[in-house]
Amino acid sequence: MTVIQCISPIDGSVYAERPAMSLEAAAEVVARARKAQKAWARRPLEERVQLVLKGVARLNEMADEVVPEIAWQMGRPVRYGGEFKGFNERSNYVAAIAADALAPIEVESSASFERRIEREAHGVVFVIAPWNYPYMTAINTVAPALMAGNTVIIKHASQTLLVGERMVRAFVEAGVPDDVFQNVFLDHATTSALIAAGSFNFINFTGSVEGGRSIERAAAGTFAGVGLELGGKDPGYVMEDADLDAAVDTLMDGATYNSGQCCCGIERIYVNEKLYDAFVEKSVAWVSNYKLGNPLDPETTLGPMANKRFAATVRAQVADAVSKGAKALVDPKLFPQDDGGAYLMPQVLVDVDHSMEFMREETFGPAVGIMKVKSDDEAIELMNDSKYGLTASLWTQDPARAARIGREVETGTVFMNRADYLDPALVWTGCKETGRGGSLSVLGFHNLTRPKSYHLKKVTK
Ligand code: NAP
Repeated sequence: MTVIQCISPIDGSVYAERPAMSLEAAAEVVARARKAQKAWARRPLEERVQLVLKGVARLNEMADEVVPEIAWQMGRPVRYGGEFKGFNERSNYVAAIAADALAPIEVESSASFERRIEREAHGVVFVIAPWNYPYMTAINTVAPALMAGNTVIIKHASQTLLVGERMVRAFVEAGVPDDVFQNVFLDHATTSALIAAGSFNFINFTGSVEGGRSIERAAAGTFAGVGLELGGKDPGYVMEDADLDAAVDTLMDGATYNSGQCCCGIERIYVNEKLYDAFVEKSVAWVSNYKLGNPLDPETTLGPMANKRFAATVRAQVADAVSKGAKALVDPKLFPQDDGGAYLMPQVLVDVDHSMEFMREETFGPAVGIMKVKSDDEAIELMNDSKYGLTASLWTQDPARAARIGREVETGTVFMNRADYLDPALVWTGCKETGRGGSLSVLGFHNLTRPKSYHLKKVTK
């Protein structure tokens, strides 16, 4: 029997472990979900919406347990208080738009005909979630999928092993029927086998590009819909008319918050030559203020990375860039807590270029590269010189310029004067190797349902 373990980044101990389910046991979970789905979908929409919101409220009541549990599992400092702000904002927003988003498209309602397109739940939705924002990434699909009348099975990351279990507990305690929302513990092979067996009608995978490829391969030929929200290498571009302090503050926070483990974290920054020196100086000062340490300590502002193997990737990318001529500007003496393992100091690199892996591959850590540019065209070329496309953060006082540049950038979201934020009213999506997700917003509901046409002729003569 395989046992799945969560190794805590705090001290390397085994924080939690659960036996992985066999394929047969997982298939039974799917069978229960399928059996429960029709009755769930028959309930009035408002009832489903309210039950989901009650589940969200129940989870909020568990905050005292959830916050340290997140710290133990993936290292986020307790001072940030969990993910409730985004978790609640997203849930409340999708609840508010559910009725409109799922409303039929009326084509004709006359004495002779009723013609309309209704939205019908897919059936059983499978959510495979990552550890970096374990609650927020999961709720993006869980809440609208349940509201739309699907039943949901969640498989969470090993690093955040307890999150799916806790979410399900909160929802079931709040009144969501047992088989409507279920948690499973699965290894990769069983996950793929379950998908390949045609168990699901829709699969949402949030995670790495390689993981996304495996899931897409497993689903091939089952005709299940697949939403893939994958990695990124998100750029910031600071133009000469930008508000410098605001740009430093938001971009450095976007690069380093959550130890840089954000899918839409800022990983590379291009700065107009006129602001470059000042931007670099202020950025180095900004990140030097972090207090690296145990995430259970309320004074800690930068926790360990979720796993020492993720920190090793960042260290290797930085070392490779430095060996090729990059300069690391943050003084290691300020961060004696950096232990060469999961506890990793933040870093700002200059004299970088795109020949370096550090500027091309996802770093997913508190380290960012800054390059000087002369023009919008040069910045656009560099921003697009990437296999990823999740968000791009443009800094200027000129919305028309931002929109013009935005149209040229291959990305899922164009930000002006903000970064690293997921607006539940806008669709969360990417292009290139970031995949083909489309969650939240009205479009998220559309992706979690299928259109069904009604062509009703009322007269027969
Ligand atoms: P990951 O290693 O791909 O894992 C994501 C989830 O998929 C986990 O539950 C994992 O289970 C499972 N998984 C991975 N490979 C699998 C396979 N071959 N077969 C079956 N299941 C598999 O990603 P992560 O390290 O948790 O998350 C970080 C990545 O997610 C980054 O690349 C980040 O950019 C991306 N991300 C993207 C978004 C977005 O919205 N675009 C949001 C958040 C994160 P185990 O943990 O058990 O391996």
